[in-house]
Amino acid sequence: MSALKNIIIGAGISGAVVARKIAEELNETVLVIDRKDHIAGNIYDYKDSKTGITIHKYGPHIFHTNLEEVWKFLSKFTEWHYFFLKPNVMIEGKAVTLPFNLTTLYEVFSYPMAKDLEIKLVNKYGYGVKVPILDLRNNDDDNLNFLAGYVYEHVFKNYTTKQWGLKPEEIDASVTARVPVYISHDNRYFQDKYQGIPLNGYTKMVEKILDHPNIKVRLNTDYKDVKGDFDRIIYTGAIDEFFNYKFGELPYRSLYFDVRTENKEYFQKAVVTNYPNEYDFTRITEHKYFLDEKSEKTVISIEYPQAFENGKNERYYPISNPENQALYEKYREEANNTKNLYFLGRLGDYKYYNMDLAVERALKFFEEEIK
Ligand code: FAD
Ligand code: UDP
Repeated sequence: MSALKNIIIGAGISGAVVARKIAEELNETVLVIDRKDHIAGNIYDYKDSKTGITIHKYGPHIFHTNLEEVWKFLSKFTEWHYFFLKPNVMIEGKAVTLPFNLTTLYEVFSYPMAKDLEIKLVNKYGYGVKVPILDLRNNDDDNLNFLAGYVYEHVFKNYTTKQWGLKPEEIDASVTARVPVYISHDNRYFQDKYQGIPLNGYTKMVEKILDHPNIKVRLNTDYKDVKGDFDRIIYTGAIDEFFNYKFGELPYRSLYFDVRTENKEYFQKAVVTNYPNEYDFTRITEHKYFLDEKSEKTVISIEYPQAFENGKNERYYPISNPENQALYEKYREEANNTKNLYFLGRLGDYKYYNMDLAVERALKFFEEEIK
């Protein structure tokens, strides 16, 4: 075993993937630390002791990707439960198909009206096309403008205001474009080639990634309390925190999850139901659907968005806008000036990565900057 010593801060998916590559391909030792009492970061799941249901502690996680390399890499560490996310959105008290698509048209409008809108949409944009809501609002057809206004009001405006504290047009357009109006009868949330949930859960998958003789994991350990010299420092926590906020704090959104056990077999029809216009929460997740688990009871998480407050709650979403990006770049420049110090991951890169992009970034980082 080489004496070269690496420390990776964060046992989330980003840190785990890099640790594995260094341990396996360079045969170097890696210490992975996390201040939480568990591995897997935000993709952590656990079995609820009362119902046996697998709970996604930090919100609903569905793996989906078109990146074959990423799918193949993770498939070395898990089998998959094949799963397509088909969420609902509550519109005027009725749970209907999300993303808003041609099926949804027929669920919310009368048949002739839905038919008319379907023909107009297909003629204007083409079947199978995804149109971000902010683009749909910019068209010159009265009927399509009515539709755009309807979807904006019933799906996007208040959900986005709750989630981000900002209106759709005040946040980076790529955020609402994640859930475009989909001119299709395909009711899946994602159309990626590879989709699923790790058959034995995300935590088990990360555990296997970290299971290598060159890797040591230390939990309940904050980087600021770690002593010792390391040849490489790879940090997947928040970059502003690492530098003691010397240029100011990078803003984030946070969440509070109200987890409840309900004394009935099923609570709702879909794994996730969004509530744009009712209540203060954004969505309810019913966990037993992920792995099709059976129980007489069911566990749900009600998700309340919050501002991130340092020391009080967790950083979940970087807030992408030019001002925050400029602040992030200052930290990145500072990092570039320090030898053998690297940042990556959703917090280290300050990017709204899905799991697959976090893995892709970790794999590329290893190839391009470490190997
Ligand atoms: P993290 O998982 O945040 O890991 C960073 C780790 O570093 C944490 O465990 C933290 O405790 C640790 N750490 C930080 N600072 C320190 C320190 N100073 N000392 C020690 N440890 C430290 N992606 C999808 O692909 N599909 C989905 O359906 C999906 N749903 C999501 C739903 C929600 C609510 C959220 C918030 C995210 C979702 N994601 C989803 C994104 C996914 O969670 C991320 O892509 C992924 O978790 C990023 O992993 P990471 O390792 O970069 O970061
Ligand atoms: N969004 C919305 N209404 C919905 C679903 C999504 O307004 O019913 C917007 C909202 O701004 C949200 C963004 O689209 O933050 C991205 O949604 P996604 O489901 O990808 O969010 P995540 O799962 O990452 O929280």
